[in-house]
Amino acid sequence: MSMEHVENDDRYQGLTVNKGVSAPPIVNPYLKEKRKHKKPTYTADEYVAGILRGDITILSQAVTLIESTLHEHYALAQEVIEKCLPYAGRSFRIGITGVPGAGKSTSIDSFGMHLIEKGRKLAVLAIDPSSERSKGSILGDKTRMEQLAIQKDVFVRPSPSAGSLGGVARKTRETIVLCEAAGFDTIFVETVGVGQSETAVHSMVDFFLLIQLAGTGDELQGIKRGIMEMADGIIINKADGNNIQKAKLAQGQFRNALHLFPPTESGWVPEVLTYSGYYGTGIREIFEMIDKYEDFVRKNDYFDFKRQQQSKYWMYQTIDEKLREHFYDNEMIKQLLIDKERRVLDAEISSFTAAREVLETYFSKEKK
Ligand code: GDP
Repeated sequence: MSMEHVENDDRYQGLTVNKGVSAPPIVNPYLKEKRKHKKPTYTADEYVAGILRGDITILSQAVTLIESTLHEHYALAQEVIEKCLPYAGRSFRIGITGVPGAGKSTSIDSFGMHLIEKGRKLAVLAIDPSSERSKGSILGDKTRMEQLAIQKDVFVRPSPSAGSLGGVARKTRETIVLCEAAGFDTIFVETVGVGQSETAVHSMVDFFLLIQLAGTGDELQGIKRGIMEMADGIIINKADGNNIQKAKLAQGQFRNALHLFPPTESGWVPEVLTYSGYYGTGIREIFEMIDKYEDFVRKNDYFDFKRQQQSKYWMYQTIDEKLREHFYDNEMIKQLLIDKERRVLDAEISSFTAAREVLETYFSKEKK
């Protein structure tokens, strides 16, 4: 007889008191499990199996791993990428650029819907050079793509936010590998048309699409010449309402401007089209152009050649990035740089002497 409840003693006949139920803990014990479930740490093989199954949740988690700056995540991420590589490469990759306001997200939304109707599986990635400073990227944000946002088979991922442009771009390139292994056959890589990031995007896509607007004559003055030279297609957005004539005019101007450029390496003659991302007009023609390009470069073998060149480029990019990281992460070098920088500013030593001395210290340490 339990003495927990004295009422159960024989002295109290006709009365029994049941054992009470213990009070629930203040913190829900399942919460921990749930959290664990939300952020699982899989082995490389588990990640790969999930990705190959097309499990978007696991794909997202693997991309997070790629984006992580923790050293212990790096090796695991690399293993996942290596194991996905044999299943990658089978998508068509399209780079999309344009100045802010050109209509990139509106267009990607329409383009995406067009592709989904054709049974394609789309992943939208982004490279945003400003995200390093703002610590947050809006490019590739699904909330800006209203129609795509509710499509469950579309994978949308904003730009990785940490690190140098080279680092951010490498992560996006690695993400492409995982997306392809997960079965995505069309990859968009979005970027803002303002500078260096185009080169990075150009070096990881098969087709480079430049979104332009009518009536902003500056573009024709050669400001974006470098970017125009990279374009395989120039598309003039917002050709709707009373803007149609202006767009047609701009189309002619861009066509003329392109004639002045040297022939492209692929032998392809870039086309200029008008469309409206908002109203969804002219989009079929854009993808007919892209299909025509794909056909053209597959037949003349430029497609494979370009991908090989890109692989080589990324090998050197990664070496550069890792060397730089290894150098600048070194505590002794950090200290030394503070001192040398001050002495260069005070004109005590020349920049070259300072650089030589720092590098000598670094390399002699490496030898040991
Ligand atoms: P982004 O900064 O390049 O991503 O541009 P957005 O897609 O956010 O578009 C910028 C603005 O242009 C928004 O107000 C859109 O509604 C508008 N816009 C985008 N596409 C079109 C279009 O085809 N026609 C018209 N009239 N407006 C558009």
